[in-house]
Amino acid sequence: MPASDSDPSDTAKSRPERLAALAARVAQCVRCRELASTRKQTVFGVGNPEATVMFIGEAPGADEDAQGEPFVGKAGQLLNKIIGACGWKREDLYICNILRCRPPGNRTPLPEEAGNCREYLDGQIAVVQPAYIVCWGSVAAQNLLGVTDSIGKMRGRFYRRGQAKVLCTYHPSYLLRNPEAKKPVWEDMKFLLAEMGLTPPTP
Ligand code: URA
Repeated sequence: MPASDSDPSDTAKSRPERLAALAARVAQCVRCRELASTRKQTVFGVGNPEATVMFIGEAPGADEDAQGEPFVGKAGQLLNKIIGACGWKREDLYICNILRCRPPGNRTPLPEEAGNCREYLDGQIAVVQPAYIVCWGSVAAQNLLGVTDSIGKMRGRFYRRGQAKVLCTYHPSYLLRNPEAKKPVWEDMKFLLAEMGLTPPTP
């Protein structure tokens, strides 16, 4: 059977083409009626379609809803610093969220919303085929891995999701409210880099 235009498994098309087709479907998505009626736009994902490392956050906030790109607000600025400290550029990675629409008032995504959006996340993972996934915060970690543990319990080890090794750490928004959590996050990033055979650049 021929794969549809937006079938992420249609390997006859290039990765950017497959992501663009999926993004076009997401832009039309009305599965979550509340989110579809309150969003300014969908926030699909950004970065390198061939990335070795994929970052998954929770959901777009106001800045992301306005700009159509994940992690561009205050939490995103902190994430950019973490990315730089690892020796990476944003464009080296692929960055997306559990949800592609902003929940009103930045409330926590509902399980039904995460379920509705799961096909798109799985599609992005299937296209990019990252070797490593970092789940930023418990919403990302719990939804991706289907667990209910806290980040405190999940950090410090790799989980497996298909081909990818998955590391879970605190969300940058949590770090903005709890700066003492920056240290464990940096430990987590060094743990990831070591697993990848990399060392962070000297500051
Ligand atoms: N927080 C997230 O989890 N994702 C974003 O894109 C922005 C803030």
